[in-house]
Amino acid sequence: MIEILRRCIHCGTVYNYQMSGYGAPEYNHSQYCKLCYEKICDTLKKVPVKFKKVLIECNDYTKEEIIEKVKEQEAIRKQAIKDNENDENAPINLKLNITRIYPPMWDTNDPSNRNIVEDITIDNTKYLYSYWTKTDEFILRKEMELDCETNEIIGPWREIKNRY
Ligand SMILES: [Zn+2]
Repeated sequence: MIEILRRCIHCGTVYNYQMSGYGAPEYNHSQYCKLCYEKICDTLKKVPVKFKKVLIECNDYTKEEIIEKVKEQEAIRKQAIKDNENDENAPINLKLNITRIYPPMWDTNDPSNRNIVEDITIDNTKYLYSYWTKTDEFILRKEMELDCETNEIIGPWREIKNRY
């Protein structure tokens, strides 16, 4: 657990912010003290959520097609890293091979049967897939945007990062 001192950007109170680890106090926020963040949360509870990300199981691709696309994207990424190895100003994602890790399940009867859990973005749609190396089980899900008012899926979820 890492705790640091922060100053609330609204009321100016100095408070402890728990950056990581379990057991964070309720209304733990990096920019607002407990009291201000509680007020923000109470206010936002009255504003309905209009859109949300949902995972939809699909069969857009077979296991073999996904494995092939993963290989293609890895080759492109490795080539980009090689092309930029001498460029000091290249962005970090072109200097390091960064992949997200998802915790897999374990086959306790046969440890050589590995569970692969990863994601891949194809044509602006993010897919999460899971399969076992020794069985045919394959689960493919995609991140989609749900319009909460109409309850309709309106397209792939677009991740838009806010910059501060
Ligand atoms: Zn405050």
